[in-house]
Amino acid sequence: MGRNIVILLGHPGAGKGTQARAIMYRLDIPQISTGDMLREAIARKTSNGKEAKAKMDAGELVSDALVNGIVAERISHDDCKKGFILDGYPRTVPQAETFSKELSNGDNLFVIEIGAQSDGLTNRLTGRWICPGCGEIYNTYSRAPKKEGVCDVCGWTLFHRSDDREDLVRERFRTYNEETFPLVDYYQKQGVYYRVDGMRPIEEVTREILTLIDKKKVLIPAGRGGNEEFAKRRRH
Ligand code: AMP
Repeated sequence: MGRNIVILLGHPGAGKGTQARAIMYRLDIPQISTGDMLREAIARKTSNGKEAKAKMDAGELVSDALVNGIVAERISHDDCKKGFILDGYPRTVPQAETFSKELSNGDNLFVIEIGAQSDGLTNRLTGRWICPGCGEIYNTYSRAPKKEGVCDVCGWTLFHRSDDREDLVRERFRTYNEETFPLVDYYQKQGVYYRVDGMRPIEEVTREILTLIDKKKVLIPAGRGGNEEFAKRRRH
């Protein structure tokens, strides 16, 4: 059995983290969030954390080499044997090219863009509160916790990301449009790209993603990390 590998694309605030968590529970494969791993490295003051901090504080991308390294290490763990969900990686074409070398014969690759208009997303980010214990995501405007600042699920104190500030949100959108959006074309050419409308209720979006994963399984031919040959086979 090949791995189910799900790459989630989408503007900051489109719902990648929320959907990644829902898919993780349903398919029993881990969510790999490069943003979470980098924030943890910063909190632990590791060398990766020190390298990433200034870029993250400015709403810019950290180096391809750094994220490629942490993802390659993470997906070598046993819990990724059945597959994994990449939330926030790849974010540049060079990252996608490096990642394609990690794909093997029989893997099922799904690249799903959670589509959203950037003008509707600012409140999703500036109002976002996250549980450091279980990862549950709340929003002051649309999904407030029962008790302010406290996670409904596990009772931990919620935190607000330092880059969920209006000026940095603008910068993160710009970074997405310039550096990450070209991945749509990159994966479209390989025939593994799908788009769902992320401005609908969370459960509806999850249902659509799960149906898509169920119906569109396509095996990656041996030795080909999703190239043009692979795309041709998919179309026939
Ligand atoms: P996220 O939690 O996915 O919104 O990521 C937060 C920040 O982490 C981004 O604004 C980037 O500075 C950095 N980051 C996360 N993933 C990547 C990646 N794949 N490539 C470069 N930088 C990343």
